[in-house]
Amino acid sequence: MFEKILIANRGEIALRIQRACREMGIKTVVVHSEADSDAKYVRLADESVCIGPAASKDSYLNMPAIISAAEVTDAEAIHPGYGFLSENANFAERVEKSGFVFIGPRPETIRQMGDKVCAKKIMSESGVPVVPGSDGILPENNAEILDIARKIGYPVIVKSSGGGGGRGMRVVYTEAALLNAVTMTRSEADAAFNNADVYLEKFLENPRHIEIQVLSDSFRSSVYLGDRDCSVQRRHQKVIEEAPSPGIPRKLIARIGDRCIEACKKMKYRGVGTFEFLFENGEFYFIEMNTRIQVEHTVTELITGIDLVQEQIRIAAGEKLRFRQRDIILKGHAIECRINAEDPFNFVPSPGQITNWHVAGGPGVRIDSHVFSGYYVSPYYDSMIAKLITYGDDRNQALARMRTALSEMVVEGISTNILLHRELLQDARFIEGGTSIHYLEHKLSQRI
Ligand code: ADP
Repeated sequence: MFEKILIANRGEIALRIQRACREMGIKTVVVHSEADSDAKYVRLADESVCIGPAASKDSYLNMPAIISAAEVTDAEAIHPGYGFLSENANFAERVEKSGFVFIGPRPETIRQMGDKVCAKKIMSESGVPVVPGSDGILPENNAEILDIARKIGYPVIVKSSGGGGGRGMRVVYTEAALLNAVTMTRSEADAAFNNADVYLEKFLENPRHIEIQVLSDSFRSSVYLGDRDCSVQRRHQKVIEEAPSPGIPRKLIARIGDRCIEACKKMKYRGVGTFEFLFENGEFYFIEMNTRIQVEHTVTELITGIDLVQEQIRIAAGEKLRFRQRDIILKGHAIECRINAEDPFNFVPSPGQITNWHVAGGPGVRIDSHVFSGYYVSPYYDSMIAKLITYGDDRNQALARMRTALSEMVVEGISTNILLHRELLQDARFIEGGTSIHYLEHKLSQRI
């Protein structure tokens, strides 16, 4: 096992990884920007290295600075967390070439799955259904693009092959709007992801977002750890996640889970990973794979009893999986609310100092957060400040505990979306379960 790991991330996930390391007796090195020098996990780390100014491109995305920090501190492995460099194949390659272990899949796998067109191709070859669309990147010729869209049928969604984080997508309802949308998505994708390739998919009108968590070791042994429902979204960004997905027969999950295992074996997958699907009329359609730990991994941990971050570290250290598929038993229900520093009505980020931070507690309540009273929420980074997660014997108990937990949360000095969560936890349709990815936006549009 490693003696020292460098954490190349910030915020709650940096703290989450640090906790996993401490429990395993592994020392941690935390790299941070100038804006994060007072963070709790920086103070708790065995060593910390400031790698640059606040702007991510100068710090958390600064590959040479991160690798130098690993060199000077003698770390053996680098955990990239989520976001930032976690799905950057060039970074994984540079880490390995510099003699460190990258805690994640092989660089080739990250590269293949990071290209969504390539990922869809691999998945359909493994027998996983994909959303119907253009088979590959759109051609330059306008007449050909119009023809492809006509065959798919409107509405369609223009997506960028290198995209992520809910960005680089455009829904098109009529032929007249298509070419302009393609041009705009291409130029946005070029600027944001340095890749102007776009493709088309049928825009599904009423799907749910269901995902399958997998875990694979370097010896081609893989398991899937059930499913998660992440359909409560705003602007393609997840707001609430839960596991297991309400109302989906376990047989269907097992069938798609087996296909995901098949795909893992085929690509010699290593580490944790998530296969994301849209689910409509009883059918799964693959949309993308994430080759890293996800924000919502917590709900899977609660229903399986498996610490995914620790397993990630064990796999990276070359250990074999300690369980087989038959050992994975899902128990109870878990829900996660993402607490963001933002206005609950217009969703504008709300950076600033938290003057009072009082968190919920009690049976079945977990909070993953790096903030505290007096913490300054920086305008430079993502607005998520905490994940509030509840667990219950069944969905109703998890929901009831979430309602109680939300009512106990006190955050002063900045605005948060806690009010929105309280409102959603009272919403009859959400309580029933199985809402589509469009439900939250629809509900928000009805707000007076
Ligand atoms: P990202 O990598 O940016 O997260 P995804 O491909 O995972 O992009 O899509 C994010 C979200 O966008 C999905 O959860 C879903 O809400 C919506 N979406 C993506 N593709 C489609 C589609 N074909 N039809 C309807 N909604 C879609």
